[in-house]
Amino acid sequence: MLSILGTLYFVYVLIKLYIATQEIGFVAKAQHQNAVILSPSSFLKAARYKIASERFGMVSTLVDYGLFLFWIGYGLRTLEGWLITNGGVWESVVFVYAFIGVNYLVGLPLDIYSTFFKDKAFGFSTIDAKTYALDQLKAMALFVVAGGAIVALVAWIILSFASWWLWGFGAIFAVVLFINMIYPTLIAPIFNRFTPLENPELSASIESLLQKAGLKSSGVFMIDASKRDKRLNAYFGGLGKSKRVVLFDTLVEKLSKSELLAVLGHELGHFKHKDMLKNVAMSAFMLLVMFGLFGNLPASVYEALHVSMSPHSTIALFLLLSPLVSFVMMPLFGAMSRHNEYAADAYGSACESKEALKNALMKLADENKSFPMSHPLQIAFYHTHPPLVERLKRLE
Ligand SMILES: [Zn+2]
Repeated sequence: MLSILGTLYFVYVLIKLYIATQEIGFVAKAQHQNAVILSPSSFLKAARYKIASERFGMVSTLVDYGLFLFWIGYGLRTLEGWLITNGGVWESVVFVYAFIGVNYLVGLPLDIYSTFFKDKAFGFSTIDAKTYALDQLKAMALFVVAGGAIVALVAWIILSFASWWLWGFGAIFAVVLFINMIYPTLIAPIFNRFTPLENPELSASIESLLQKAGLKSSGVFMIDASKRDKRLNAYFGGLGKSKRVVLFDTLVEKLSKSELLAVLGHELGHFKHKDMLKNVAMSAFMLLVMFGLFGNLPASVYEALHVSMSPHSTIALFLLLSPLVSFVMMPLFGAMSRHNEYAADAYGSACESKEALKNALMKLADENKSFPMSHPLQIAFYHTHPPLVERLKRLE
């Protein structure tokens, strides 16, 4: 049993590394050809950033593999020996805290490197050590409270129901919906300051854009994203017809009014086409598959790992192996998402103008140093958005 698990994970690691090397080769070759869309200097910089990110991703994959081997071969059973006596709900919570804590500590140097060295070197990251440390502490507090409650809930369900995986799926799906609902108003403000947009003209244009799409605004806000990063973005928050519009200060600074409206028009397109609902349905399907799988693992898996068949080990296995399941489903999810992006682009360009959206997309790519092309395998597995070259072509 152990060898099947090990082989599956090994193949997963190999595929990930293979795709990364293909992408690096593709970008390394493309960077010497004529620059498209971006200015020659941005094009080259975007290529270098892409290659650095892929190399970093390969290291992360290997570190994850090391962690997997550690947990499977030694960690899970050792932790169980230390922490578990009766296998009750609270012991499961402590076990999962320890499990995630170890993963977090191992991943922390990588995250610090990525933020303070890789992204700083390319001029994206503006974060200082204090903001970073505060972010980490806030995220940790959130995890201890909310994560602990969720683990307790799942552990209780496992102990209480025979077909627990169905109930567990229902409960976690409800939690995911709830978090999505409270994210823009309760969670995001923990990390960023939200200020009402102080540009009455732009605000009025955004309100009328929403109105045309049949939505109501529950405020247009700007967040201080520039304290961490120079990259640009915007999003809509909230369920139902009432939307909170959130603009990164970096976006307001760099885009013209018409470009900004085109970007928001694109986001509105997602709402008009009910893409949120499709995404929710897709995540529900993915969760159901995972619960079905991890809720019905044969006893031989636990025996092979020398751990008891209890909530704590089931939850740890779920966390350890679910990336494999989502990796298998990613091409399906990505294809759907890329299809939706084209449709949202069409909507956005109709809201404002084709030119405005094209200029906005090009500015975004230029500021975010996103390389406008990718290897087909990379696109199939990882891209939720089509490459910029394709999006611009489709807008024509
Ligand atoms: Zn989109």
